[in-house]
Amino acid sequence: MNTLFRAGDGLLLIDVQVDFCPGGALPIPLGDEIVPVLNRWIDAAREANIPIYASRDWHPLGHPSFESVGGVWPEHCLQDSAGAAFHPRLALPNETIIVTKGTRFDKDQYSAFSETGLSRRLDRDGVKRVWVCGLALDVCVRASALDARRHGFAVALDPIGSRAVEPSRTDAVMDELERAGVVVERTEAA
Ligand code: ZN
Repeated sequence: MNTLFRAGDGLLLIDVQVDFCPGGALPIPLGDEIVPVLNRWIDAAREANIPIYASRDWHPLGHPSFESVGGVWPEHCLQDSAGAAFHPRLALPNETIIVTKGTRFDKDQYSAFSETGLSRRLDRDGVKRVWVCGLALDVCVRASALDARRHGFAVALDPIGSRAVEPSRTDAVMDELERAGVVVERTEAA
């Protein structure tokens, strides 16, 4: 596992929250299966002194993404609710840098880079290559990986650390990401 990361890497965990896992408000099929994988990567990152970033969807009441106000998603990840918490088995260390998104009243933010200033923070931390993982592959992971490329970062993604809302879209999303320059790294046997 020590060969997983190199100097200049950053580990970016997207929205590994209770509401996005089975039993939550907007469950992603098998979403919680990634947690043990991510915990191994977190351990490896800490061992290699690689910074860890964890984004969270953090919606106000009546957020424009909610179906109740004309959006496309059921109500989820309400600020300070149990569903908005990180998955209880996700072993985030204290030094994790939390990236909060989805707080705007006028639009949704799928990407962890969307008006959060994350690219500036990654630059400051000396990050050149971002390992992107989390939930959901076809929504916020996709948007974050594409934005990381747009901001000029190298991006690595191992599909074992992500799951799609629509699993049938997985292959198409992976193709799209690879065309955008995301490098698929297969780190572990399934
Ligand atoms: Zn959301």
